[in-house]
Amino acid sequence: MGTGQGTGCGWVRFRLTRSELPDAKTFRVTFRNGQWHIAFAVVPEPTPVPGTGEVIGIDRGVTITAALSDGRTLNCPQLTVKERAQIRKHQRRAARAKKDSPEKAVEYAKVAKLKAREANRRKDWCEKTSAMLARSYDLIRFEKLNIKNMTSSARGTVEQPGKNVAQKSGLNRAILAQGWGLLRQRTEHKAPGRVQDVPAPYTSLRCSACGWIDKNSRKSQAEFACSSCGFTCNADENAATNVAAGQGGLPHPRRTAGAGGATMATGRSSAREPQPIWVGIPFF
Ligand SMILES: [Zn+2]
Repeated sequence: MGTGQGTGCGWVRFRLTRSELPDAKTFRVTFRNGQWHIAFAVVPEPTPVPGTGEVIGIDRGVTITAALSDGRTLNCPQLTVKERAQIRKHQRRAARAKKDSPEKAVEYAKVAKLKAREANRRKDWCEKTSAMLARSYDLIRFEKLNIKNMTSSARGTVEQPGKNVAQKSGLNRAILAQGWGLLRQRTEHKAPGRVQDVPAPYTSLRCSACGWIDKNSRKSQAEFACSSCGFTCNADENAATNVAAGQGGLPHPRRTAGAGGATMATGRSSAREPQPIWVGIPFF
């Protein structure tokens, strides 16, 4: 048990769901899914720089969440097909239930619980993945998120007409975008000053071996084969390698990877202070 004084509500007792009280200056009280929660703001300690000089590029994947320039792929967990079906079932039941009836409230609560499960999985994945990135690489370059691209219709953009229509549509796209944004944010918290956003134009069409840009090099969703030098690669890995090279992969005078740690100050890394993360602690 713990006790805290909240503004306007006096002293409250709560059940600690962690081993000890976090070292936090502020907290927030919320009511969701039929439970009161008290959440403490905790800013993580920066992860020590590995000092290997290694740079990783991360490209937003098409069928996967993130492709790394070392060939690895990272997938943000989502709800299973079965869980999605359960959500639809409870939504249908809620729609049929009488207005203001207890049944309606119960069905809506079940929907909210399933959606919260997905959010928790996503957060957990972002914590683990950002910790791994901060621990493993000196410099972490993200494909710069184009908000316009993320919110535009599934028809696609001028650069990439109709690309991944199914994945970009509706809820799925929004969820993946959330996971991507959170991963970027949490990596910055754990690796302050070591995260850069690389403008994304042509990263998917540019050959990471010779720099040739040609839409014909993108043979399929998965395959990249340069129409100039013949270099072949997984398309997502090729794009991530361009991101790792910085500034859209285009040649530029800025020093890049391998200069031995001296590259840290050259980037356009965000100087924003780490934002607190909220850790949920239910109490009764
Ligand atoms: Zn090439």
